[in-house]
Parts: sequence; C-alpha cells; structure tokens
Amino acid sequence: MRGRLLLSWLCLLPAAICAQGTRPAPREGAGAVTILHPARVFDGESMHEGWAVRVRGDRIEAAGPSAGVTIPGATVLELAGTTLMPGLIEGHSHVLLHPYNETSWNDQVLHESLGVRVARATNHLRATLMAGFTTIRDLGTEGAAYADAELKQAVDQGIIPGPRMLTTTRAIVATGSYGPKGFALQWQVPQGAEEADGASLVRVVRDQIGHGADWIKVYADYRWGARGEAAPTFSIDELTTIVETARSSGRPVVAHASTPEGMRRAVMAGIETIEHGDGGTPEVFRLMKERGVALCPTLAAGDATAQYAGWKKGEGAEPGGITRKRSSFQAALAAGVTILNGSDVGVFTHGDNARELELMVNYGIPAPDALRSATSVAARVLHLDGRVGAVKEGLLADLVAIDGDPIREIGALRRVSFVMKGGTVVRAYEGRR
Ligand SMILES: [Zn+2]
Repeated sequence: MRGRLLLSWLCLLPAAICAQGTRPAPREGAGAVTILHPARVFDGESMHEGWAVRVRGDRIEAAGPSAGVTIPGATVLELAGTTLMPGLIEGHSHVLLHPYNETSWNDQVLHESLGVRVARATNHLRATLMAGFTTIRDLGTEGAAYADAELKQAVDQGIIPGPRMLTTTRAIVATGSYGPKGFALQWQVPQGAEEADGASLVRVVRDQIGHGADWIKVYADYRWGARGEAAPTFSIDELTTIVETARSSGRPVVAHASTPEGMRRAVMAGIETIEHGDGGTPEVFRLMKERGVALCPTLAAGDATAQYAGWKKGEGAEPGGITRKRSSFQAALAAGVTILNGSDVGVFTHGDNARELELMVNYGIPAPDALRSATSVAARVLHLDGRVGAVKEGLLADLVAIDGDPIREIGALRRVSFVMKGGTVVRAYEGRR
C-alpha cells in the first residue's frame, strides 16, 4: 500500500519524470556491480579512449578512465574492440505499423485486426531493443487505438522485452484532412488518427492524455490541398489551444509538418518538435532555431518510400523528392536547428533504425553530431535528460556496445554486440562481429 502511495505521489511530478514508468520489474541482484571494459566510451557528447563504466543495480555508478572505475569484487565484462554508448534514442517510430512494401498503410489501418497488430508490435519492440535502441517516442498508432500505451505497460511490467516508450496514442488531425481516402463518399471510413477541430480540441487532447499519451501529436499539415498537395490544416489559434491544453498537464506537443506555413504555425504555437520538415525554407529554419524547436528529419522514411516506388539506389537519376530533402536538411543544419534522431521506422523494418543516422551522415551532418542527436540531444529534447542519453554517474544504465568506432564509420551502429537496459543485460555480449 505504501509503495502504491509513493508511486502515485511520484506521478504528480512532471510527465518527463514519470513518462518512462517508475516501476521497474523486480530483478535478482539489484545491487550487483558490473564493470564494463570497452575499447572506448562515447558518453553522449564525445569519445573517450580507455574509459570503463561501473554499473550498480539499475544505474551507472561511475564512468571515466579505467583505473578510477575499477573496484575489487565486481564482475568484469571485457568488451574488446567495442565502443560503449548510451542506449540509442529513436525520436519517431510507429511500432504498430510494418513496412509499406509488405502491406499498404490503408490496408494496415482498415484490414489488420488490433490483435494481429499488437502481436506484430511485440516483435517490433524486441527488434528495436536488440538493435541498441533503448528509448523510443512512438508517434501514433494509426488506427490501433491506444495500443501503444498498453504495450508500454507490458514493457514496463516486464511482460515483453522492449525499449522505454513515450507514447502519443491516436494523434490529432483536422476533420476531412487525413486518411484512409479513396472510398465512396457516402461512407464514414475509420481514420488513422482522431479528428478534432476548434473547441473540441480541448476535450480530445485531455481524452488522449487520459488514455496514456505522454506527448500530444498533431498534423499541422497534410496532403489535402486543392490539387492533392500538402497544405496547412489547423489555424495558429487551434494549434495554440492544443499546446496550452497539453502543457497545463506537463505534456509537450509534436507536429507533423512539411510545408513552410504548417511549420511556421506549429513553431508560433509553441510546439516543441517538427517531424519531416521536407519543405522547410531557410526562414522557417531560422525561426525554429530562434524558438528552440527541434527537427526530426525522418530521412529514412523518404529513402524507403522512394525505393518502394521503384527507385534503385545508385542507378538512374535520383528522385526529386530525395534531392529536395537533402537540400532542406542541409538548410536546417546551416540554420543551426537542433536535430533529433527520428526515422519514421514502421514505414521500413523495425530494428533497422540506424538507417536514419547513416543517411544523416550521408546528407552532411558530422558523425559526432549524428550520435548526439540519438543520445544526449535526444534526451534533452524529449525531457529525459538526467535519466537516459548519457554515460554518466547516476543515470539509468542503458548501454550499448558497438563493434568498431561509429565516429569513423557510422555503419558500425549496425554491429551491436551487447545491450543493457536499466542495468539488466538484454542482449549478452557476443564477441567481435
Ligand atoms: Zn510518422
């Protein structure tokens, strides 16, 4: 009873503190001490040769030059040749979707049963964790109700393996703007997100919070323009209503936006991260920089959908969408916009999340900045700093060992040889890969 009282008291604290689940599954040897000896440590900011990390229970107790970290009696784990990093953070996932070249989005939303989608999602969560991603922000169930919040409970209770989750439940779209589309107009077709407008936005934001949303996601534009192009949806006043309603509960708001006007309205309304941003102009990116709004570029989603549409990489002309995306991403970098690693995984295979970081580097971001966007910077943007995102005393022991040095070769991120979450080994060391 006392434990329950303590827990409910804890959850009066800001969402950022409670979002990750304050109830770790009971483990044996919670006070056990392990010393990890990799070749080097990327601590979330920079690389350090010859460091070691000491883990006690679910926390990092010490990180620094090996001699100062070693204590007698501890279990020592040699991770020769590896880079030890904070567990990676995925800022934009959809665990309830699977690749569109397997099944179209329309068919997933309308034909796949909730039970089947949840069953798939359990596989997706395991694959994500085994790939070294120990935290995800999942940005909408796309018709699967509140299953993200329910899966998060299953992970937090130790029922299934998976990363720590921040959830958004159904997400919010303007009436008439979203999909699935293409049906006889007399039918009311179930939508992939929750429709709301004007005054009803207050009720819908609160209702999603009540159903487990850690963040509120809104579509600030969508492909509903007069000629099918992307066009803004909500007014600034509507977006502001969403932000104020969410914020009074301690929850931030994230916007899907790819048009300059949709992005501008989202920024002016106080939204904290913008997803995609494909049509971003230097002016809009300057505004984002001024207001401290982060960009989740989702380069991998565009790369995947272009290939599904028939583009063979390295053959023929690059699709215009890819060329434009590269140049808008470079404009965001030039403006100094904070980049949050986020791939839109679900459009492509779960567990292949490193694809975003590879593309970021390929499109021009320095490798150390790419790594920060998935560790320390991601933790800050997602209000999780002080808990995850760094190899630092007192933080949760979410740690991943990579065979090789991802600053020299970003693709090394795919060679995960060890994963620890909250001090528990979830992927045992497999040696050199
Ligand atoms: Zn998405």
